[in-house]
Amino acid sequence: MSWENNVRKVEPYVAGEQPKRKDIIKLNTNECPYPPAPGVAKKAAEMQCDDLRLYPDMNGEKLVNALADYYQVSPDNLFVGIGSDDVLAMAFLTFFNSDKPILFPDITYSFYDVWANLYRIPYELCPLTEDFRINKEDYLKPNGGIIFPNPNAPTGVLESIELVEEIIKANPDVVVIVDEAYVDFGGQSVVPLIEKYENLLVVQTFSKSRAMAGMRIGFAMGSKKLIDYLKDAKFSFNSYTLNMPTIEMGVEAVEDDKYFKEITGKIIATRERMKKEMAELGFSFTDSKTNFLFATHKEKPAKEIFEAMKEQGIYVRYWNKPRINNHLRITIGTDEQMDRMIAFLKDYLG
Ligand SMILES: *Cc1c(COP(=O)(O)O)cnc(C)c1O
Repeated sequence: MSWENNVRKVEPYVAGEQPKRKDIIKLNTNECPYPPAPGVAKKAAEMQCDDLRLYPDMNGEKLVNALADYYQVSPDNLFVGIGSDDVLAMAFLTFFNSDKPILFPDITYSFYDVWANLYRIPYELCPLTEDFRINKEDYLKPNGGIIFPNPNAPTGVLESIELVEEIIKANPDVVVIVDEAYVDFGGQSVVPLIEKYENLLVVQTFSKSRAMAGMRIGFAMGSKKLIDYLKDAKFSFNSYTLNMPTIEMGVEAVEDDKYFKEITGKIIATRERMKKEMAELGFSFTDSKTNFLFATHKEKPAKEIFEAMKEQGIYVRYWNKPRINNHLRITIGTDEQMDRMIAFLKDYLG
C-alpha cells in the first residue's frame, strides 16, 4: 500500500510551445497576431487598484450583460469562465455523467479525451471521413453526451448548420456541446438554436478572434436550465473565477464590434491569400474556415518541414499522431509574418 494508490492519475493536455525567445514567428497556438481592441488598453490604464480589495462579481455580470446584448440572448442564457477550457471542463463535469460513452471525433481538440479521463467519463471516438468530415450516422447511436468543435480543430473543417442541427435533433436525451472556438473566421454559429433545443450548449472564447488569449475569457450559451446547472457546479467548485480587471477589459472587447470585424476580416483575407500561395508551393489543405491552415506537402514529410521551420524561428504545430502525422497546423499571422514564412518555404522546398 502506498499513498500513491489514492492519487487521481491523469495524463495532462500538452499545449503548443510558448518559447521565451521573442524574435520568432509564432504560428503554433492559434493566437491573434493583432492587439486587443484599443478600449482594452485604455481600460487597463484607468483601472483603480483600490477596487482589488473586493471580491469580483461571482457571475461576471457586466461581461455577461455585454455578451448577452451582443449575441441577442438573455443574461440567463450565458455563463462565463477562465477561457473556454475552464467552461468546457465545467461542462464535462456537469453534463457528462452517464454510464454510456460520450462521443467526439477521432481527430479533434486534444483536451476532450484528457477531461474525459480526468473525470473517468467513458468515451468513444467517431472517425472522421478521409477528407476530415463528420459522419452524422456516428452520432445516432446511444451515448452519454456529444461534443465537437465547429469548425473542427486542427482540421479547420466547417460543417453546415444543417448537419449540426440534425445531430442535436437526434439526441434530445443528452447534452450536445458545440465548441465554436473558431466560428468568427467564417463559420455560422448555432447560438440561435439554443431557443429550440434545451440540451444544446454553445461554447466560445476570447482567445482567438478577440485577441485576448492571455486574459483567459471563455463563455457558454444555452437554455436557462442548462446554464443554471453549470452555475450550480461552478459555485460548488470555485465561485470567484473571472477577476475584476478581466471582466472590465472583456466588456471593452465586446463593445468594439468595428475593431472585431476588422481584425477577423484581415485574418480571413490573409488566410485566403495563403491558400493560393501555399498551393503553388505544393501544399494541399482543407478549406479552412478558421485562423489556421491544416496543410500537407506533396513530397516533403511534415515532420521535416516542421523541424526546418523551427530551426529558422518559425513555429508551427505538428502532431506525431495517427492520420495527421503528415500535416502541419499553421496559424494565420500578419501579412508580413506570412510573407516571411512563404519566402523561407520557397527557398527550403527549392
Ligand atoms: C483554443 C481552443 C479552446 C480553448 O481556448 P481558451 O483559450 O481556453 O478559451 C477550446 N476549444 C478549441 C477547439 C480550441 O481550439
